[in-house]
Amino acid sequence: MHRLIACIAFAVFISVPSLAQSPSAPALPYSPSIDITSVDKTVDPCADFYTYSCGGWQKNNPIPPDETSWSVYAKLYQDNLAFLRGILEEAATKTQRNQVTQEIGDFYGACMNETAVNQRGLTAIQPQLEEIAALKSVRDIAPMTAEVTLPFGRTLLFEAGSTQDPDNSEQVIADLDQGGLGLPDRDYYTKEDAKSKEIRERYVQHVRKVFELLGDEQEVAKNNADTVMRIETALAKASWTQVERRNPYNLKNKLKMGELDQLVPNFDWATFYRTARYPQLGMVNVESPKFYKQLNESLLKEPIDDWKTYFRFHVVDSYSPFLSQPFVDENFSFYRAYLRGAKEQQPRWRRCVQYTDYNLSEALGQAYVSKVFSPQLKADALEMVNRIEEAMRERIEQLDWMSPETKKQALVKLEGIRNKIGYPDRWRDYSSIKLLPDDFAGNIERAGAFEVQRQINKIGRPVDHGEWQISAATVDAYYNPQMNDINFPAGVMQPPLYDPKMDDAPNYGDTGGTIGHELTHGFDDEGSQFDAKGNLKDWWTKLDREKFETRTKCVEDQYSSYVSVADVHLNGKLTLGENVADLGGEILAYMAWQSKTNGMNLQPIEGLTPEQRFFIGFAQWDCANERPDDLRVRAATDPHSPAKYRINGVVVNMPEFGKAFGCKSGQPMVRPSDQMCKVW
Ligand SMILES: [Zn+2]
Repeated sequence: MHRLIACIAFAVFISVPSLAQSPSAPALPYSPSIDITSVDKTVDPCADFYTYSCGGWQKNNPIPPDETSWSVYAKLYQDNLAFLRGILEEAATKTQRNQVTQEIGDFYGACMNETAVNQRGLTAIQPQLEEIAALKSVRDIAPMTAEVTLPFGRTLLFEAGSTQDPDNSEQVIADLDQGGLGLPDRDYYTKEDAKSKEIRERYVQHVRKVFELLGDEQEVAKNNADTVMRIETALAKASWTQVERRNPYNLKNKLKMGELDQLVPNFDWATFYRTARYPQLGMVNVESPKFYKQLNESLLKEPIDDWKTYFRFHVVDSYSPFLSQPFVDENFSFYRAYLRGAKEQQPRWRRCVQYTDYNLSEALGQAYVSKVFSPQLKADALEMVNRIEEAMRERIEQLDWMSPETKKQALVKLEGIRNKIGYPDRWRDYSSIKLLPDDFAGNIERAGAFEVQRQINKIGRPVDHGEWQISAATVDAYYNPQMNDINFPAGVMQPPLYDPKMDDAPNYGDTGGTIGHELTHGFDDEGSQFDAKGNLKDWWTKLDREKFETRTKCVEDQYSSYVSVADVHLNGKLTLGENVADLGGEILAYMAWQSKTNGMNLQPIEGLTPEQRFFIGFAQWDCANERPDDLRVRAATDPHSPAKYRINGVVVNMPEFGKAFGCKSGQPMVRPSDQMCKVW
């Protein structure tokens, strides 16, 4: 269930075809944290604080043609990629290399060898295609899916792996989740509005194009595409929605192996688990029983030839970014251009850096942090974390709506949170992956298999609390409810987000708010259902939980009233956890900043008071330009609200903001105090 982790940003790796998003040119040296050129002084901060703080940035930073959106985070990530490129090009060409530089150099070099990639063409995945072609009956599907590992460590048809036991977080058990779809979410298959219908038609065209690239005649390709769509639609209808997935009890269904066989008798689980080299299993957690019930019916109903068609498409579609040009182009044209609005493909080097960062993250991470992350930076970050946690402690103690009983439990949970900063204490060893300098797709496949096996190997072993879910160079941060830890990689602790040369006001508004955001995730609609040890356990009194839900409902209703794009409203339930974390995080950051600077005689800088600089620092963490197509995908799949609402939606609930800018009642950024939402 590691997918429960809650991030500050929507950092989805570029090559995951369905959700491709990524950040272009090194822009060093950085501007200071408060970027005055980003402020649009023609806008009244009390009318639209986001546009006041970011209007200049928006004008100066149009979305690059190869990007689906653009933001301060995306730009910083792109600078990181340019920096990593330097490390990788040296590693790819140097003759004197250590184990790490050899691994990352060969992986990156193979990716950059476009001539070899194009020459190999489809032969790179010939073995997988042959296994599919050899299927004789539905019973053969189990061993095939166990053997054909997809890139990104995914299984075909569904998602199999391991998870921390929701009832005992120190134990790792086998896990099965829904999957098998080509579009970004199950709702794409079920919604009846005109745009959704158009997207489905365009997707079927994409599937058809992939079959044509495989050599199918037009008519055959068309029928095949319809088959894929039919199978996927049945699975989609039985899948949990994004909102249903926010309830962790929906995802907890621990079954004995016999019960799994009863749920899905048409799939040979014993052979699947043996072939995939799982240890002996006592139980498995099935996150989506409805999906597996449908899978069983589909296995009965669909003839083996149609399954072969389905698998053939999914193997090729998943591998397309790593195959020859026609496959790369078709993949780009549907997933990034049509679905998300990108105008151009990213340069190859940038894709290759991201593939390396994703597949060999802790090898590349070692080379990265040794150059960018100082012990002083780590100490500074830790100090800020401690101050924010202290503010949270005070805040819990002061809450007027919570009973002492629940407060005591909340404080136990707060005490139990682990703070992880910069990078892992121990680096993962990739030496068992065979990496060849001239076999890119093969490297991807073997790295994917390594990751699948690594997840399986966790079953029955003690949980590694030092493990990280994102790479050190990632510009993001997360909270993991089952680990009860907050994680800030080196990539996010950099200017213009955190700048040691700047004063506290913007640093607390920006990075302090990020830390508070992750901390608050431990207490949002989802995180609050896990205890200090990371177990799914109710530590609330009934009455306090009701009061909590009345308060979160205020936030839900507020964000549901916002329009994301055209006629699409935000889903207040989907974005609830992030919105609660945004609001709570900024309140904590403000408290921590006030207590640190208490008694200091802070003076205005560039005509802005310290309080104004705090809030501008906050707003400028998320200056962004967003494409309508991308906003549409995100409204359906992204738990984060669009940038404008992540800023304005917070300040309208903070009386400190209106006071800092001298706003008057009746102005858009001023809510009457009895309508303000406040959870934590
Ligand atoms: Zn978050």
